[in-house]
Amino acid sequence: MCGIVAASAASNIVPVLVEGLKKLEYRGYDSAGLAVISGNGIERIRSVGRVAELTTASASTQATTGIAHTRWATHGIPSERNAHPHVSGSIAVVHNGIIENYESLRTELTAQGYVFTSDTDTESIAHLIEATLKDEPDLFKAVQLACQRLVGAYAIAVIDHDQPGKVIVAREGSPLLLGVSDTGNYAASDASALLQVTRNMVYLENGDIAELT
Ligand code: GLU
Repeated sequence: MCGIVAASAASNIVPVLVEGLKKLEYRGYDSAGLAVISGNGIERIRSVGRVAELTTASASTQATTGIAHTRWATHGIPSERNAHPHVSGSIAVVHNGIIENYESLRTELTAQGYVFTSDTDTESIAHLIEATLKDEPDLFKAVQLACQRLVGAYAIAVIDHDQPGKVIVAREGSPLLLGVSDTGNYAASDASALLQVTRNMVYLENGDIAELT
């Protein structure tokens, strides 16, 4: 098992992401990473070490929208280049689970000109959403359409630098819940990661997609 934390809030969410990942460490992981929307684009920090290393590496990072991940490698060795988030154009994606049709997606997206920089099944999701955005510019709808092409189990969280202030999350087979508060909205693999910010939780069901703003 492994974990996801995502946040869109009124103030800096980087400490919330890192604290959330620490609470998910018990699930096991081999690498960790986060991505936030900054003034310059997507800022991404990844590490094959412990979550504590992300704390240090992200100490000077400030953002109000972001996603974070602990990885349990299923496709591709534990390494920084295979660690999540995975980026395509203006978007970044974290994923728990396994995409069974990733090879055919990879072939299709490579033919469209996408360059893969990891060995993961997850990177196919990132490029698929980016490709879908060309015809469907709304991030929520693009994620919804992309999910219809995925076979397998997933919980995902997606941010787009061109659509700041929102995170789209979706689940099918892997756990994901929302944390709702007056000052921000969050998602995580289990409640322990979000008790630091809210006790108001919404458990997503398979097939659910949500937009956090
Ligand atoms: N299958 C993905 C990978 O190997 C996600 C693994 C996970 O659930 O952490 O990167």
